[in-house]
Amino acid sequence: MQGFLNKWFGDDSPREMINFNIGMVFISLSYVAALASGLYLGLDRSFYYITGIGMILVAFFVGYAAQSGRYQLAAFCIVLLLDVIIYPIAYFLDGRLLSFMLFYFFVVFLLGTFVLEGRMRITSFFIFLIFWMGSLVNMHYYIASAGRPPFDGLAPIVDVVIPLIICIVYSVTSMIASARYYRLESENAEKERHKADEMERAKDIFLMNMSHEIRTPMNAIMSAGEIMLSRDISEDTRRNVHHIMNACKALISTLDDLLAFSKSEDRVLVIQESEYDLGSLIDDIINIISVRLMGSDVKFYAYIDPYIPRRLFGDAVRIRQVFINILNNAVKYTKEGHILLRVVMSEVKADRMVMHVDVEDTGIGIKEEMIPTLFDDFARVADDMNESLKVEGSGLGLSITKSILSSCGGDISVTSEYNKGSVFSFDIPQRISDVGSLAKVGRAKELGVIVCDDDEKMIAVLLDTLKAMRIKCISVKDSVEMDAAIAEGLYTHLFITPECLMGSCDLPALMSANITIVMMKNVDDPEEEMGEARLIKPINCLNIAQFFENEEQKEKSSLTPGAGEMIKPERVIVSKARAMVIEDNITNMMVAERLLDGMGFDVSTANSGLTALSLAKVMSFDIIFIDYMMAGMNGIDTLREIRRLKNEWAKNVPCIVLTADTHEGAKQTLINAGFDDYLAKPINLAEMEYMVKKYLPEEKLV
Ligand code: ADP
Repeated sequence: MQGFLNKWFGDDSPREMINFNIGMVFISLSYVAALASGLYLGLDRSFYYITGIGMILVAFFVGYAAQSGRYQLAAFCIVLLLDVIIYPIAYFLDGRLLSFMLFYFFVVFLLGTFVLEGRMRITSFFIFLIFWMGSLVNMHYYIASAGRPPFDGLAPIVDVVIPLIICIVYSVTSMIASARYYRLESENAEKERHKADEMERAKDIFLMNMSHEIRTPMNAIMSAGEIMLSRDISEDTRRNVHHIMNACKALISTLDDLLAFSKSEDRVLVIQESEYDLGSLIDDIINIISVRLMGSDVKFYAYIDPYIPRRLFGDAVRIRQVFINILNNAVKYTKEGHILLRVVMSEVKADRMVMHVDVEDTGIGIKEEMIPTLFDDFARVADDMNESLKVEGSGLGLSITKSILSSCGGDISVTSEYNKGSVFSFDIPQRISDVGSLAKVGRAKELGVIVCDDDEKMIAVLLDTLKAMRIKCISVKDSVEMDAAIAEGLYTHLFITPECLMGSCDLPALMSANITIVMMKNVDDPEEEMGEARLIKPINCLNIAQFFENEEQKEKSSLTPGAGEMIKPERVIVSKARAMVIEDNITNMMVAERLLDGMGFDVSTANSGLTALSLAKVMSFDIIFIDYMMAGMNGIDTLREIRRLKNEWAKNVPCIVLTADTHEGAKQTLINAGFDDYLAKPINLAEMEYMVKKYLPEEKLV
């Protein structure tokens, strides 16, 4: 019984089903009452026929509703049956409001109110009104013509009062059921909202932890890089360390973007514009991609228009991210052939220009039908491709790229041929800060370059670049052509690959010719040998201009005594100062220790709050760096305990918190907790020096 009730009237059943079933219970009840009243009033057989047919048809519709779940349609059919068929027949058989006819009216009205919706409800009310008014008019006519009252004897009680009572009970029951249903529904909605809030919070915590987990090792890498840069190292190593640091910065900015992106509801990224150097931005990007391609069979070429203005005004971090996203995809989805980066200026108007970029690859390509959804969130089309080509990815890169570009007023498009390759093209409008161009070679007219390489695409790109830089150039295929070109005496430089140099020509003769040999090498080729002139592939206007500038400098400096010494950046140096680093991650601790050591600090380290406290009891410090997230006693507790120490110095010693938590408000929370300042991980030497300069008494700074 309980199961039956639960199925037909339970909380989990749809509202229209419950109301339909309640209606049917009352219709059945009234049929029983109608039959009883027919007997009592002694109505003739036709009444029983009509009532019987009505009952059978109602039972049929109830069965249909239970089978198909189409309660609205079944209720509407019952409305039509009762109001349009049964009621008029019964009415005209007797011509009065007899035999539960009132019930037919009201039940139709109640079914319309509680079960039907939309057009069915309006139609049922319309039918109800027509028949109700029609019967009133007819009753009036009947009374006037027959001189008989509409009701005889007890008929009013049997035919009017009982149906009215049934209808009232029915409507109250339906109202209670509906109210209960709406209450449950709003409780469920509240539960769902709560669940969604919980999930949102869980996502935030996850992102915060991920951010921390990624930033902490990054801290170690960047800080170790800072240490290396502050030492006397060769130009080559310095360049590589710069690339490592730039790659780390790019990773951190991508991480920040992901955090910002996952938080922004409308997927609009904030653009922060400032002046930047397009040359170093493109140089960095080319280096990152070359390093990624190390050891692969894919060739990387770059054609950069040397006349694009170097100093631009825009959001360099975002623009870099756009380049990296598109080029990274080209690397991910290309296993052989080449990737070509082409950057040109497509429009220049007053102080504005549009930078047009094409990234061409010979990778897996994209099916035509996939292209329209490619820039949607989490869109990935590689999944249904060849197993061996399955590549890691989130499907977010292109949608982030598109958001960035539309935030800057730019756009992106793609043309692709499945299994052949793709070309992603984008436009970035930028303001020009200074018209000075990207790559200018002052003495271009005096130069001439012979290019010797087996790679035809590389030769074409290089010749285009040299021509755009107004440098005379020619390509040669073999030693015969090379000798002839050298003999012309028009060329000052020979750009040649190690393979061509070793393989196809008369080396001693070449060495003695009056021409500078420049080796075209890959980024992973062994370190520069003494005196070797070289260019790293992909050769483009930036490294060509840099090469000729260095050459000119060298020529000049060979005349100046003492030139060529390494210029060391100005550093903060302290004297007789003691610092403590409290950090439970050994790598980060060592990095911070070495940075402080480099500044001349006497450094003590503690891998926990408790160790730090026992140290602070026996010696004093001029500055303390405390990691925020430590196992056991955390940063804030450690700070509190240090401040509670009896020694006077401990009450005022500057305490700087080290944290990877870059969330909004994090700084304020930590400052409110009592820290003097905040140093975001990964620790940057310049920022650490800034803190030392800011908080150390002047007499301790040298
Ligand atoms: P992800 O690479 O992380 O999956 P993206 O949004 O960057 O996400 O790219 C979306 C999809 O577009 C990729 O999954 C891939 O199927 C397709 N795609 C993007 N770039 C290329 C490309 N250069 N060659 C072939 N397919 C690409």
